[in-house]
Amino acid sequence: MKHNVNSYIMPTYGERTLDFKEGKGVYLISTDNKKYLDFGSGIAVNSLGHCHPKLIKALQVQSSKLWHISNLYSNTTQEAYAKLLCQNSFAQKVFFTNSGAEAVECGLKVIRSYHHFHKNNNKKNIITFEGAFHGRTFAALSAQKNKKFSKGFEPLLSGFIQIPFNDYTAIKDSIDENTGGVMIEPIQGEGGVRPAKLKFLEQVRKLCDEMGVLFFLDEVQCGFGRTGKFFAYEWANFEPDVMAVAKGIGSGFPLGACLSTADACIGMTKGTHGSTYGGNPLAVAVGKAVIEEMMQESFFEKVDKVARYLWHKLKFLEKNYNEIEEVRGAGLLLGIKTRKNNLEISKLFTQNGLLTVPADDNIIRLAPPLIILKKEVDEAIDIIEKTLQEIDD
Ligand SMILES: *Cc1c(COP(=O)(O)O)cnc(C)c1O
Repeated sequence: MKHNVNSYIMPTYGERTLDFKEGKGVYLISTDNKKYLDFGSGIAVNSLGHCHPKLIKALQVQSSKLWHISNLYSNTTQEAYAKLLCQNSFAQKVFFTNSGAEAVECGLKVIRSYHHFHKNNNKKNIITFEGAFHGRTFAALSAQKNKKFSKGFEPLLSGFIQIPFNDYTAIKDSIDENTGGVMIEPIQGEGGVRPAKLKFLEQVRKLCDEMGVLFFLDEVQCGFGRTGKFFAYEWANFEPDVMAVAKGIGSGFPLGACLSTADACIGMTKGTHGSTYGGNPLAVAVGKAVIEEMMQESFFEKVDKVARYLWHKLKFLEKNYNEIEEVRGAGLLLGIKTRKNNLEISKLFTQNGLLTVPADDNIIRLAPPLIILKKEVDEAIDIIEKTLQEIDD
């Protein structure tokens, strides 16, 4: 096998050419000194933009005090942070992780341990949905059943049943005495920015209640303000039992969390789970600063307002440019479905100074930092329109 001597990194991300040296707010500067408007946010991660002054401060202060202690010790800041997360969500208990996939893993263990605790020995199966993305661990690969990610890694784990997304009949027919949990993204991100219908989510909640099944939301991508509310489920009239969050939670610092009601995580007793770094002092310091910033008055109202502004601008382009087949999504997690290849068009956006992230179903995903201003939206729309005109020529 030929070894690419230009890189010592496993080539799982393919060829990479863009190299950034710094970022500020919604902008990134490349090593060749070009300025980019960042509508990717490191895949919906930099919720407060790049190098937010309050986050720099929080990290600096913490980094001169204490970097790491084991989770064997109690930690006042971690407790305070967990309390903040619970006070602002359905949850009563938190397990901290370093990533989204680990938060998903924890949630799956919450489900299995819940039924083990209650001696529901048949309730092993977990229902998931077509088009789902839950991460790259074996459980996540097994849950999403997407050959694009799991080919060559078989055998996968058993116990995952996949059904069509947004299909009430399918779930009504599939949920049975062997079902332990249902896991869903309120908005499928990687799968092509496809929102679940709010009514569908409420119906699933009802079915779960009737069948003694735990309802597990994966808000790793759509949570933390991305939809214009703190969590996406708040747009509907229900609460989950368990929820995985990550990405926007640390605005760039590696952090994730599994949130749960006290009842749902009753099986997560001493020794059942652990993480060396999860909820480490540096991560917690940044996470706490992120949530404090988001809880400032009218933070979410501003996100909602700028998101609606972007939506209307994009819908106008959809109407006027044949190249756009559809604009969809919610809040600041939007997808442009293009007629030509999304990767090629995304590359043209990049050449014109706008960073986006492709998703499945020929989607160009837009997920700018939540702090984006109207004038920065205008700038992005100008680039998109200019690019569309170049394509039409
Ligand atoms: C990104 C993502 C994950 C995985 O998160 P990692 O931090 O990459 O492990 C899981 N679920 C959803 C919905 C995601 O978008």
